[in-house]
This record gives sequence, structure tokens and C-alpha cells, in this order.
Amino acid sequence: MDPSPDVPLPFRIVALMQERNRLLAYPLEQMASDIWSTRFRCTACGACCTREVNSHIFLLDHDVSVVRTLDPHAYEPAPDPEFCDQNGMLYVSGYALRMKNDTHGSCWFLENGKCRIYDQRFSVCHIYPHMLRRSAGTPGHVTWRQFARKNEHGRCDPALPFEECLVLAREVKEYENAFLTQQISFLETIYEYFTLNNLRHDPEVYKQTAQRYLYGEPVDISVFHAGELELFTRGTVPKDS
Ligand code: SF4
Repeated sequence: MDPSPDVPLPFRIVALMQERNRLLAYPLEQMASDIWSTRFRCTACGACCTREVNSHIFLLDHDVSVVRTLDPHAYEPAPDPEFCDQNGMLYVSGYALRMKNDTHGSCWFLENGKCRIYDQRFSVCHIYPHMLRRSAGTPGHVTWRQFARKNEHGRCDPALPFEECLVLAREVKEYENAFLTQQISFLETIYEYFTLNNLRHDPEVYKQTAQRYLYGEPVDISVFHAGELELFTRGTVPKDS
């Protein structure tokens, strides 16, 4: 499905900037208290490191630098490219961890249910399942989503210290801020690149190309990383890695 709505890019950029402003205005103490109220403690079950729980694990720019030093085959363009130009080039806002083709669709780094690079795990691995995203609830109401898959993983830790929640809350806000900033920067880059090169998003070509991409055919995809669009062809790693 074409994920890019009909809303013009400048409006989408402004909407994301407003979203970031709301995020920054969200009180840290409130966030910490929300985390504390769940008493969530990770049991390292590894479930969230699989496609069964998360469709993909997005990497921020600095995570990509880390994964490139660990294993250049451990990442790939994030799924669901946002744009496709009239020449059939797909565009996506960043990279994600590669998932294995095993029964659960495990993260590339998950082995026997354990993360083999735990001390160097990525930004989102640190904060999951806590997040701070606004999402549509009942029609007309937008609420903050703060916890992913309540009661489906982890254990309740009645002794969870509030100070720990404060540290986590700070990390969550930093992650969400970096994520939104990357998305804003991606849209700005696309807007400029398309304008300068006389390109446009083509929904028909998108449908055909995205289908081919989904079926594993070789398709060129332009991935946004560190302020630039870099070419990624399936089965390869970008030239600078
Ligand atoms: S890097 Fe480690 S913690 Fe992060 S998703 Fe993969 S296995 Fe899980």
C-alpha cells in the first residue's frame, strides 16, 4: 500500500515539527511516573527482538554507524519505503536491523534467545517497550502511547526505583526527539531533491516497484542516512560501510 498520503510535503514537515514541539513539552516527571506505574522489568525473554512482536527495529543515524562496525550485513533499508519517483527509485527514511528467516523472524543479533551484542545494543533496544508517541484513539481523540504491548512481556517489579524511571524517561524523550528529527530531515531532503531534479512521487510506479521489492527482486532504493540519500541495492551494503 502506498504509505504516502496526499498531504503536500511542506505540510507534513510542519506537522512533524509540531509533533516534536509537543514531545519536548511533555513533562519528564510525568513520563517517569508513567513508566513507574507499569513497574515493568525486562526479563530478557527476547520476544521483542523478533518480527512476531515488532515488524522492524529502526536504527537512528548513530546506530547505523555502530552496526557498520559490528557487522555490515546486519542491517537493511527500513521496510515500507515512503516514496517512489516516476523512474522507479524507492526512498526510505532510514535503516533497520536485518531479521533472520527463522521461525520467529529473529533480529540478526539474537542467538538462542539472547542478544549477542547486548552491551552495544541500539537506541530503541534500550528504551523498548517505553515510548512516547501520539496516536489516534477513539475518533477525534489523540492520546499519548507510552507502553507497547502491555502485559505481553517482562515482569512486574514492585521495587522499581523512581530514579531509574527518570533516567529511562530522559532516554525515551531523547530517542523520540532524534527519531522525529530524522523524519523531518528526510522529508526536507526529499522535497529539495525532488524539486531540483524534477522528480515526483508516482503512486502507480510505487505500487509496482514496492511489490517487486516485497518479493525480493533486485530494486534500487535510496536510503536517508546522516543527511544524505545513499543507494542501496539488495544483497549489498552501501559503499562507505
Ligand atoms: S540488537 Fe539485541 S536487543 Fe536489539 S533487537 Fe537485536 S537482539 Fe534484541
